[in-house]
Amino acid sequence: MAIAIYPGSFDPVTLGHMDVAMRAAKVFDKVYFGVYSKPHKDMLFDQTERIEMAKQAFAHVDNIEVCGYSGLTVDFAKEVGATVMVRGLRVSADFEYEFDMSMMTKKLSPELNMICFMANPEYQFLSSSLLKEIASLGGDVRPWVPEVVWKALKKKYIAK
Ligand code: ADP
Repeated sequence: MAIAIYPGSFDPVTLGHMDVAMRAAKVFDKVYFGVYSKPHKDMLFDQTERIEMAKQAFAHVDNIEVCGYSGLTVDFAKEVGATVMVRGLRVSADFEYEFDMSMMTKKLSPELNMICFMANPEYQFLSSSLLKEIASLGGDVRPWVPEVVWKALKKKYIAK
């Protein structure tokens, strides 16, 4: 059974992340969508909120399981028995970051392979930070996030 993890901060999950996860779910038997607890950047949503939103977004997909983790991503992969780490590539800047990450991952856990999915052109320009910025200024980001995330963003910003 081919098991993959798709780790990230997902603050919040966007249709770009979902597109990658759903394609991965067609390739692998099981995908663990791992929501990292403490990335080295400021989060708008805490881990529990990010997990809950992702759970609702993927509720209709049988072989995607959303879970939180902290610590090293390679340890999370070991815990769930994954041999593949999925990431998404939007532009060349992503490549440099993901390449360094894959080199380090290989050192830490030689048996874990990284597989990158090219972004869907429709979502290539999407990032959580851009969407948060637009939402914070009162913009409508509904076309690019699941309904649950739109509601949460409205609560954080617009309802204020
Ligand atoms: P990070 O894990 O670096 O904090 P994110 O949680 O935003 O970043 O993203 C997790 C993964 O999804 C990364 O590999 C990122 O490149 C990828 N990703 C982010 N947005 C998109 C998108 N719109 N299309 C495809 N992949 C994406």
